[in-house]
Amino acid sequence: MDRKDAVQRIFKAMFALEEARQILRETVAEELDDELRGKLEEIFDGVCEILKGVRREHLKYVVDRIELRTREEEFINIDPIQAGGRLTPEARKVLIAYGDGYSICDYCLAPHRLDYIKRPPVAEFLEELAEFLNMDVVRVVRGARDGFRIVTNALLEKGDVVLVSALAHYSLCLAIEAAGGVWREVPLTDGKITGEAVASKIEEVKKETGRLPKLVAIEHFDYVFGNEHDVKGVAKVCREYGIPFLYNGAYSVGVMPVDGKDIGADFVVGSGHKSMAAPAPTGVLATTEEWASVIFKTAEGRGDVTGRGFGAKESYLLGCTVMGAPLVAMMASFPHVRERVKKWNEEVQKSNFFVSELLKIEGTEVLSELPRRHTLSAFNTERSFDVVARTHKRRGFFLHDELRRRKITGLTPGMTKELKLNVYGLTWEQVKYVAEAFKEIAERYGLSVSD
Ligand SMILES: *Cc1c(COP(=O)(O)O)cnc(C)c1O
Repeated sequence: MDRKDAVQRIFKAMFALEEARQILRETVAEELDDELRGKLEEIFDGVCEILKGVRREHLKYVVDRIELRTREEEFINIDPIQAGGRLTPEARKVLIAYGDGYSICDYCLAPHRLDYIKRPPVAEFLEELAEFLNMDVVRVVRGARDGFRIVTNALLEKGDVVLVSALAHYSLCLAIEAAGGVWREVPLTDGKITGEAVASKIEEVKKETGRLPKLVAIEHFDYVFGNEHDVKGVAKVCREYGIPFLYNGAYSVGVMPVDGKDIGADFVVGSGHKSMAAPAPTGVLATTEEWASVIFKTAEGRGDVTGRGFGAKESYLLGCTVMGAPLVAMMASFPHVRERVKKWNEEVQKSNFFVSELLKIEGTEVLSELPRRHTLSAFNTERSFDVVARTHKRRGFFLHDELRRRKITGLTPGMTKELKLNVYGLTWEQVKYVAEAFKEIAERYGLSVSD
């Protein structure tokens, strides 16, 4: 049995079991009649055969044109956005059990709000999550971008300025626009956002508009280079000006320890599907006592015909946020996530090792800061792999082909001028294997590799 065969057996067996499950969902009585029992026995026997490898037919699609996704089982995946969002086995089990629509709502009692649900233990999870981030109040939201949207909705009025980084994620800029605000960029100093640069941008905006920015939102690590920005320095400047600070932890919350109070953040935003081993769409939005009543404001309106009100519902959240499997899966991964952040130093060590190996390839330059403080790194390979691509019949795709042959995936296919990758969560053995693969490919195409 090889890896591919094992993957086939697992998926085929699991899908067959879903058919068995469906039979139960269409049954009336507790006691199964002979016909149903027969159908189930047939499926169970089939599953045994599948698992023993008797049934050899190849399964390509889940259904119709929807392919199986076996990327994580068959490859080492170094896709920069996928590394921290790979699910734990616990989260995958939850997806099977809680997949139905509003599955979280079975035991939703008054006041009918997601964050009060005790079964499964959502309320308790949120308490632990707030403690984990060292913030006062937290809600699960539909991705980091939903966190931005909630905060900008609550804080901005038309024309208000928000300072973002020159490397800000597009979703932050869109959240500001959607709330009627205007985003202005803080320039980089040697690839980084500093407190001083934020201070001078605040002054610039003040001079221009006569008013201070309403919010400053800076990422701890940017998605372009994975550089670490001086969020503490920025928070300090914001405090001096009395401007609230949103800490964007899309690439930090869930992979490294994040202490919101120590940073001096008014809002901490994280991404479940990017860094918390959770499915999309999930994220976290945490805040202080002071700001909780602003961003988690409850409904105020009354129906002019019916007199109805929705008092407990939080307006900017649109009441409940993530209402089923993704939330429960995030909860199931949390014990693992809480432990894994303690091993961040070793992840960074692996990252530095990997970068130093790649830099042994002639003409390769790192675009990210050195030493690495994150597992996401960007490289300029115009004078290494791109030189090969210029004369190769597959052009830039040769690198993708070669990596794929070695069961490595996650780089943008066809791209050889710049590489961006993330080694988060790989074992030492896997990191070494990937580094060796790059060096081997380089040598194969005549690039020299130093030792
Ligand atoms: C990925 C990313 C986001 C968006 O995260 P979602 O959870 O997908 O909304 C925002 N900011 C940064 C810096 C990111 O890297």
